[in-house]
Amino acid sequence: MAAMIGCEAFPLRKLFAAEASSSWVDKPMRWAQLTLVEDDPGKFDPKFWWDYFRRTKSDAVCLSAGGCVAYYPTTVQFHHRTPWLGESDPFGELVTGCRKLGMVVIARTDPHATYDDVKEAHPDWIAVDSGGKPRRHWASPEMWVTCGLGPYNFDFMTEVHREIMSKYRLDGIFINRWDGSGTCFCEHCQKNFKEASGHDLPRSEDRQNPARRAHILWRQQRLFDLWQLWDSEVRKINANACVIPNTGGGAGSSLDMKRIGELAPILMADRQARRGLAVPWANGKNGKEFRATMGAKPIVGIFSVGVEEPYRWKDSVQSAPEIRLWVADGVANGLRPWFTKFAGTLRDERWLRPVEELYQRYANWEKYLRNVKPLARVGLVYSQQTGWFHGGNVEAHIDGWYQALIEARIPFEMVHDRKLDQVDAFKTLILPNVAVLSDEQCEHLRKAVGRGTSIIATYETSLYDEDGVRRKNFGLADLFGVDYGGRTEPRMQNAYLAVEHKRAGNHPLLKGLEDAPRIIHGIARVEVSPRREFANAPLTLIPSYPDLPMEKVYPPRERTDIAQVFLTEGTGRVCYFPWDIDRAFWEVLSVDHFHLLRNAVEWANNEPPIVTVSGPGVLDVTVWRQASSMTVHLVNLTNPMMMKGPVRELLPVGPLKVRLRMPEAVKSRNVQLLAARTKPRVERSGEHLAITVPSVLDHEVIAIDI
Ligand SMILES: [Zn+2]
Repeated sequence: MAAMIGCEAFPLRKLFAAEASSSWVDKPMRWAQLTLVEDDPGKFDPKFWWDYFRRTKSDAVCLSAGGCVAYYPTTVQFHHRTPWLGESDPFGELVTGCRKLGMVVIARTDPHATYDDVKEAHPDWIAVDSGGKPRRHWASPEMWVTCGLGPYNFDFMTEVHREIMSKYRLDGIFINRWDGSGTCFCEHCQKNFKEASGHDLPRSEDRQNPARRAHILWRQQRLFDLWQLWDSEVRKINANACVIPNTGGGAGSSLDMKRIGELAPILMADRQARRGLAVPWANGKNGKEFRATMGAKPIVGIFSVGVEEPYRWKDSVQSAPEIRLWVADGVANGLRPWFTKFAGTLRDERWLRPVEELYQRYANWEKYLRNVKPLARVGLVYSQQTGWFHGGNVEAHIDGWYQALIEARIPFEMVHDRKLDQVDAFKTLILPNVAVLSDEQCEHLRKAVGRGTSIIATYETSLYDEDGVRRKNFGLADLFGVDYGGRTEPRMQNAYLAVEHKRAGNHPLLKGLEDAPRIIHGIARVEVSPRREFANAPLTLIPSYPDLPMEKVYPPRERTDIAQVFLTEGTGRVCYFPWDIDRAFWEVLSVDHFHLLRNAVEWANNEPPIVTVSGPGVLDVTVWRQASSMTVHLVNLTNPMMMKGPVRELLPVGPLKVRLRMPEAVKSRNVQLLAARTKPRVERSGEHLAITVPSVLDHEVIAIDI
């Protein structure tokens, strides 16, 4: 795997020294993080932690070093030693002990806050709000929020990182909260932004405001420059080290994942737990989002052991089943686990055993968790530029598809929209209202369809150019076979779809809807005019009609000829829904919409699936190739607390029948169930293996040596 790091898919990697290819990044599989608090020195027991790291078979650790608070005898001016430091060096002591355990050791810094004396000496290091006032820290009011894009980070934190690397020669430095805290109006930000863009700092969030658009891009460039500065300074001292900023995410994240994927030799996905109405597959989704641009490079999934809600009970302990399920979904989706604990002194020890059990399990499974590549054939596209320049509820469209693919048990990957020229691993690409697409991106899609890739697109996909400016017509009108009709209906009330059984015959899109004369429509639609005749459209429009008073609730027209799905069978297939089926599914979860979403993928894919799983329950199914094995992960999400945690207990499902198509004519040898520690019943017929899994509690892995 280490050899993959320098592969040609990541040419910008060369911006950084090439040493990382011989580096440590691919070795660790189980990470630990100990973030000390100010009063830990002299109070916490390092031996307790070394013992816990040993018992959990943790092979890498991230330890607090500096930034807001220094845990070593720093000599950098204004770098605040903890008042409890005295003559001690708790950071150095922890580093030495962890090295004796053979662990990879990286330092953690956090530069986002500082103290009065720093503000006195360098008022320009402090973040300034839109009213021109320096910003107090929202949670620790004796502190100040620092500017992420000015000299505090570029000069002061560079010194801090140099000192930490010189003194301890660590494997890397992980930097938390490094990218500022909202738009900063300090003198440096004003001047630098004006020089770079010609604009004053934007005061509105309107994405069509040229200053806002310029700021979205300028801020990114500052942060990439900062990352590169820190990384090169640290590598001058230790060529095998690297700087890992805490960054990355999906369509709603602010830093370009494509560049991040090119720059980072390893990355941490920091989605610590569920909060509010979060689903347990959200952890796996993070893994897929990162992998879309990181490729085969290691991705680590940070999970906390506490209750992660806006009230931030940072000293709390989450239920053990919740931790297990959250981490399982990450691991099944290629994340290497990283537990994080704040404070060296524990006030509640209930998390220790569940994490130890999980880590021992993953240590036993290690050979089968060293994935080479996923074998999914469906790609779900996410578009940061749609988030940046178009806005709207970009995630809801993605999440609707995500939930449907989970329910349908179809393995899939996520695809970054700026990598649409590298999609040959996929048979089908899904474009969930990817509104913003450049002409070049549209051309990549056109070529992919010409090579046999199928696409499914919804709603306003390709209706806006790369600046978020609306086009006269869809960029992909030729693929969809329809032109934009000039009108968008953003909020439909009481609208339906007629299911055209007679006209469409037994069209596979209508599987599961055989007895449905009509189903609910979505929430928004665009008017389109077909470029050619679409005979036998399976769905047609029943327009909105009154929903009150009840005497008025009848449609003036029982049906229309206005098609609401457009299917084209060429080299690759194209399915276009001129409405927001995905976002409506995420909001309403109508099973009729689920049938359409699943059927659309099966129709578009038009090949035997890599794996099918039959039996009860909701399962996240992923399929992987390792150096000399294949694995099928089954994560059991079946739970009354699935759509809002925390899970109270794990409820087993089974038996499950798994039918796996062996690719590339590989022969299977030994087949095992890693969690059950048994050899399952396996029937072979042609290229298929049929495996019976008697029961899955939280996470089972079918491991096939090949
Ligand atoms: Zn600033």
